[in-house]
Amino acid sequence: MRYFDNNATTRVAPEAVAAMLPFLTERWGNPSSGYRFGHDLAEPLIAAREHVAALIGASPDHFFFTSGGTESINTALQSALRSEPDRKRIVITGVEHPATLNFARLQERNGYEVVIVPVDSAGQLDLNALEKAVQQETAIVSAMWANNETGMLFPIREIAEICRKHDAPLHTDAVQAAGKVPLDVRTAVVDFLSLAAHKLHGPKGVGLLYVRPGVSVHPVIVGGGQERGWRGGTENVAGIVGFGAAALRSMRRLDEMNTRVRSLRDRLERAILERISGTSLNGLPEPRLPNTSNIAFDGIEAEGLMLLLDAAGICVSTGSACSAGSHKPSHVLTAMGCSPGRARSSVRFSLGVDNTDEDVDVLLAKLPAMIERLRAEFSSR
Ligand code: PLP
Repeated sequence: MRYFDNNATTRVAPEAVAAMLPFLTERWGNPSSGYRFGHDLAEPLIAAREHVAALIGASPDHFFFTSGGTESINTALQSALRSEPDRKRIVITGVEHPATLNFARLQERNGYEVVIVPVDSAGQLDLNALEKAVQQETAIVSAMWANNETGMLFPIREIAEICRKHDAPLHTDAVQAAGKVPLDVRTAVVDFLSLAAHKLHGPKGVGLLYVRPGVSVHPVIVGGGQERGWRGGTENVAGIVGFGAAALRSMRRLDEMNTRVRSLRDRLERAILERISGTSLNGLPEPRLPNTSNIAFDGIEAEGLMLLLDAAGICVSTGSACSAGSHKPSHVLTAMGCSPGRARSSVRFSLGVDNTDEDVDVLLAKLPAMIERLRAEFSSR
């Protein structure tokens, strides 16, 4: 298999599997138990928490583990709304993940006004529109660090400054940024930050929500007081330990992501744009994640290309995995002003540290003939 869909999920790193295994086989106790077989698990949990803390430049006391990105996002937004019940405005960008968009839309029924800050044709945020939106009392602003479909990076430090100036709390969805660009909550001063382990070669079903010191948390999942009462439920010990190992590995391989993987992505992108006519990039070359390339192929349905590539053992994505299955054009590309036709002809290639030169060669060898075939079929319809 040649896997070019690392923004959907990543292979669990061997280091993460090895770290997790003892907690699925021999050390399967409950950390809250009074005997050693249980409470001895505190130690590996503390170590994992420290590794994950280093990934975002936070103190281990300032985040809690969740079941993943979606839960973290829901908890951050819900918590902010409960903290300031008199503020009835939610500000988000038009290219957020469905976890954010759908949470915000649901709140309209509860009397909230949802302001969607637009992006331009390259996917860059209109900071003037953001500033205007937050001038009225705002319960929460949510802006992603990096976009899952185009890889475009938002200027999160500038966004944070605007929010601070107008006393509007800020959540950032950093799910796609982690492991690809440096994250540091000491320099990007956000109130909440969400991550998911499975995007950085950790296991699925575990993530975190960082909360800036002094910001209140209103737990959404209440239970037995785990995670200092911020998130109930018996700890996912193996998952958390796997997240810790994956965080360590991704910090060690961050340079490789920004050198070798970036140049692999650039070689793939350049070759497609040069060798195949009627192709163009969605977004800009920079500021962008080093692994992502979203390309429109005129005169084809991306869905058809995905199926042909799948038959050849190559995985790519059309739109985000979460919206796959629906035939709606990508809301991200639509928000950037793409026509539905262009959005439906766009393919996302997302690379990772497991990709090799040979993967790119194989993809490039197959792609032109597939595009030609699809174009011929499309025009004869
Ligand atoms: N935010 C972004 C930008 C994502 O790409 C994803 C996953 O695709 C999520 C949030 C949701 O994460 P999870 O599927 O782990 O809940």
